[in-house]
Amino acid sequence: MHAITDRQSLISALDCRERQFTEELIAEGGRIKRENVGTKTYLRGLIEISNKCRKDCLYCGIRCSNVQVERYEMSEEEIISCALKAMALNYGSICIQSGERCDKAFTDRISSIIRKIKALTDGRTGITLSLGEQSRETLMEWFEAGAHRYLLRIEASNPMLYRRLHPENSLHSYDTRLKTLYDLKEIGYQVGSGVMIGLPYQTPADLADDLLFLKNFDIDMVGMGPYIPHPQTPLAALQYPADGRRLELSLKMVALLRMLMPKINIAATTALEVLDKKGREKALAAGANIVMPNISPASSKSRYSLYDKKTSLSEDINLEDAEIGFGEWGDSLHFLAKRADIE
Ligand code: SAH
Repeated sequence: MHAITDRQSLISALDCRERQFTEELIAEGGRIKRENVGTKTYLRGLIEISNKCRKDCLYCGIRCSNVQVERYEMSEEEIISCALKAMALNYGSICIQSGERCDKAFTDRISSIIRKIKALTDGRTGITLSLGEQSRETLMEWFEAGAHRYLLRIEASNPMLYRRLHPENSLHSYDTRLKTLYDLKEIGYQVGSGVMIGLPYQTPADLADDLLFLKNFDIDMVGMGPYIPHPQTPLAALQYPADGRRLELSLKMVALLRMLMPKINIAATTALEVLDKKGREKALAAGANIVMPNISPASSKSRYSLYDKKTSLSEDINLEDAEIGFGEWGDSLHFLAKRADIE
């Protein structure tokens, strides 16, 4: 298959409904992955530390105006014990995720947790953060404490689409989100971003532009997955593509991104599993190389409801057939190559 890299070809590839083309594209994504980043799948144990959030994103189940969510916050001890569990399982890395909070008590607690996890594991735990938009100072403090990767999805790279998915106020600014991504890069984090796929209003051209956005930003890691409506959100009332189409689009996006950026890390996201119990395995075949098993305590898992998980069969992925990079950080080769160029 010839490389699909220009905007028009990306749009046509996403638009195409031929089964044979889709299968070939997915196989090609998998082949390019194996050639460039190898066959191993790396793990990040996901810890969902709190669903308290100051934001009100129109698609998200833990948005601050959803009064039906029972809010929780894991204690420092609980979080550290989860991290130690991940290390006992030989995962190599953890990812700490939460609703967005910027108060000093929260940011200080994160710094302290990062330092303690690093100290207790002799620096062996790779730490990814996914804690929303934060000030440059806070991001620097967490980097100095020992976090080295950060995930912040742009959600939708088209500013007009972004606006339709978020309340129109300064707390939900596209420009601030983008600036935070640049701050992360300048501080020295391995930077991850991504989008939701199959959103209301979203066109194949938007998705093609999302891929080109990630390429132009020169991103190191990507997590992108299907939009899954949450009944207690305003967006759930709007039209979006059927389950099968959202799954197909998500797998194609992974394969096309692998063509555009052969050496980055791409996550097989959990939301895929809501649409297909083999969703994450299919994403690995299409070019993804990262899995984030959820290691949060059951009480947190059930309340960290970004989307409707009713159809989700299990949080566990069958990794028996996969070759796992146990005990390895599995850093983005794209990032390491860039750094080697500078040094
Ligand atoms: N507060 C952090 C972490 C967000 S939760 C932040 O702002 O980055 C992680 C991701 O879940 C979000 O970036 C979003 O892309 C995804 N998400 C939220 N609601 C979703 C939904 N209804 N369907 C699919 N993904 C969703």
